[in-house]
Amino acid sequence: MRRAQGYGLTTMDGKVIEEEDSFTCVHCNTIVFVKPKQDPAEMGGVCRLCSGLSPAYICQHCEGLGTCDPFEKKLLRMEARGKLMKAVGI
Ligand SMILES: [Zn+2]
Ligand SMILES: [Zn+2]
Repeated sequence: MRRAQGYGLTTMDGKVIEEEDSFTCVHCNTIVFVKPKQDPAEMGGVCRLCSGLSPAYICQHCEGLGTCDPFEKKLLRMEARGKLMKAVGI
């Protein structure tokens, strides 16, 4: 699975233009589409805690929650629960 932001668009003349018109929410992994030339932050927000060298965009839902809960941590929690259930024998 690709986590790269944006994708190439092929125009009518067969030219490929790179447009950053989608991003993956770092909190819930939702793909948010952004209109060309629109600021991705307007479609949701930027999590300052998740941002490193590049801004970490989040969807409107996660922006509304106002908390930082990265998707990777959610996965780790799910994995931990799986291991726990195995350990308990469920
Ligand atoms: Zn989200
Ligand atoms: Zn965050």
